[in-house]
Amino acid sequence: MKANRALESIKIYEAGKPIELVVRQYGIAPEAVVKLASNENPIGTNPSVHRAIALNAHKAHLYPDDSMYELKEALADKYGVGEHEIIIGAGSDQVLEFIARAYLDDESTVLMSQVTFAMYEIYAKQMGAKIIRTPSYQHKVDEFIEAYLEHHPRIVYICTPNNPTGDATSKEDVIKIIESVAKDTLVVVDGAYMEYAAAKEARFAVTPKDILGYANVIYLGTFSKAYGLGGMRVGYGIANGELIATLLKLRPPFNITTLSLVAAIEALKDERFVEDSVDLHQEQIKRYEEFAQKNGIRYIESYTNFITYLFDAPHNSSVIANRLLEQGVIIRDLASYGMNALRITIGTAKQNDIFFAKFKEAFV
Ligand SMILES: *Cc1c(COP(=O)(O)O)cnc(C)c1O
Repeated sequence: MKANRALESIKIYEAGKPIELVVRQYGIAPEAVVKLASNENPIGTNPSVHRAIALNAHKAHLYPDDSMYELKEALADKYGVGEHEIIIGAGSDQVLEFIARAYLDDESTVLMSQVTFAMYEIYAKQMGAKIIRTPSYQHKVDEFIEAYLEHHPRIVYICTPNNPTGDATSKEDVIKIIESVAKDTLVVVDGAYMEYAAAKEARFAVTPKDILGYANVIYLGTFSKAYGLGGMRVGYGIANGELIATLLKLRPPFNITTLSLVAAIEALKDERFVEDSVDLHQEQIKRYEEFAQKNGIRYIESYTNFITYLFDAPHNSSVIANRLLEQGVIIRDLASYGMNALRITIGTAKQNDIFFAKFKEAFV
């Protein structure tokens, strides 16, 4: 069977390895596996969200409220925007897919950082678009503007803070990029880790309100990271109403589940949980910085819930990642991004203790 030619150059997205795989492959007990690979909230799910899901489990036979009114209202309140300026996706990933389908075709070009979230490329390539990357793995304003002027892309992706490197772009620089592009270029500001960046340093806090004045910008947020709901698949896009109305044409009905909707609505009622998660994270990430310094490992200063360790030959990130995996510690090797680096999600104190102990054995 011949598939759409646009798919030929797409490499299948490699998700973080699941606990089940390590159990099967290495015979390690599931409770002994430490998964620090997918930037999930190590505290878990908010207990009040657990309860809400359990209380609503009997409604699994019902389609969800397709208007998603209550969730949109809660998000609108949180951010001071209108409900018509919000679209809900099965993860912000799905909103990225709507964006690519709405604005790209096989004559388009998109611009992104050298090393960034892999799904931007995948969705863009599905539409036949051409990918342009800036030279640096960090987002550098001048590189973005220079590449913009040369290629006039339809979409510019700004991932701040950036996955998988952890660095962030200040609000001032985000606005500078937005103001440098023409009105027919869409700027996507992906704030999947914004809760962490905002808590660390105010100048990195970008909010949906900051970008709503621009008709050609969309802000993306997710419940998968700080809100601890990766398994429920809920994310959102916020932009001016006309742009959202365009994206809504691509949304299938009931694109998130009845229980996901319940979970997200409940999660927004308890911002304390998010603050506590970020507090724990800030305390624990210091240990990763100290550990790196003590062991002569370079790292990228992180504004996210993970840290990226950089290695120099003869140290090899893939070898270290495999040795850790055999020991039941799952982290993310960045070799496929062209980096000799590991991305480690900051875990609970106990998970981090295990990581440090096993890493010392694996670091050869
Ligand atoms: C995790 C992540 C997302 C979205 O995740 P969903 O679970 O689909 O909401 C989007 N962008 C980046 C950079 C991410 O790391």
